[in-house]
Amino acid sequence: MNTQILFTQNSAMSWALPGWLAWLDSDHVLEDRNDDTDKKWVWHRLIPFAFLHLGCLAVVFTGWSWTAVGVAVLLYWVRMFAITGFYHRYFSHRSFKTTRLAQFFFAILGLSAIQRGPLWWAAHHREHHRVSDQAGDIHSPVQEGFWWSHMGWITRPANMVTHYSRIKDLTKFPELVFLNRFDWLVPVLYALGLFVLGAVLETFQPGLGTNGLQLLVWCGFISTVVLFHGTCTINSLCHVFGAQRYDTGDDSRNNLWLALITLGEGWHNNHHQYPGAARQGFYWWEIDMTYYGLKLLEAVGIIWDLHPVPASVYSQTFTSANTFTTSNLNPSIQVQPRLRTSKLMEPCR
Ligand SMILES: [Zn+2]
Ligand SMILES: [Zn+2]
Repeated sequence: MNTQILFTQNSAMSWALPGWLAWLDSDHVLEDRNDDTDKKWVWHRLIPFAFLHLGCLAVVFTGWSWTAVGVAVLLYWVRMFAITGFYHRYFSHRSFKTTRLAQFFFAILGLSAIQRGPLWWAAHHREHHRVSDQAGDIHSPVQEGFWWSHMGWITRPANMVTHYSRIKDLTKFPELVFLNRFDWLVPVLYALGLFVLGAVLETFQPGLGTNGLQLLVWCGFISTVVLFHGTCTINSLCHVFGAQRYDTGDDSRNNLWLALITLGEGWHNNHHQYPGAARQGFYWWEIDMTYYGLKLLEAVGIIWDLHPVPASVYSQTFTSANTFTTSNLNPSIQVQPRLRTSKLMEPCR
């Protein structure tokens, strides 16, 4: 089968690079990635992760400065917001609206987190909600254990593919498909930008004590690795540790500590109960920094129509393993406890 045929089968765009450059395109199929049966680690696919982790060790040579550490922390929070607010709550769940131009920049900011493209991310995440913690869940710690759900699933060839059929609401934007196919472009520019910024600061503000390599190690490697593991805890730890307010039919939990490091994603049981809402902390005491950030973007007019948590969800109180009541209406009303949430996954527009 030639490359062109493989592209038209797997890509949302019909054009392809010449064969000798095809490896630059994440839609390029080098092997049978549609094998959906095996859940085994593919060890050579850990090489990029090993590179990112080993790169952190270069700090031994570059040292540290308050400038480098400060920028690394800032970029952790900014890029975490890009993942939670844009990759998750916008591209995956369409929980608010924005302009085409803004969504393009949301995608670029998300790509700088080095967690692949927005369409790949959203397509896999929608599938997670559809079959959460069931046999077909691609990253369930209940089904496959901690390490598989944390990062093993990413090494699986079948999970390398962007399943465009699950994200037809997004594939109509060719600029998003382009960014998704060439998902290495923004990370390369991000790394280059850090190096140049560090070199400029070294030349013009030597008192800050930083340089190109130091900024690259702290913000390109260390900040990105911590960000990667922080994000992955929602797939691994947040389906094991924490409380369950709702019987969502899966093992999703609400966990304050994970909510703090992920800007609000730790209210994961809430989220599985109603994925279409822009907020995941359903009450004022459930700290949800992403939601506060989205409210700020709404206040300045960049986004609008943030989907609220419906009153019917607030009135549901999970009281025991077998009882699910609408308490403010009639405590005796029993609702099917194993309520699946897939119907709530439909993109909200
Ligand atoms: Zn989940
Ligand atoms: Zn979700």
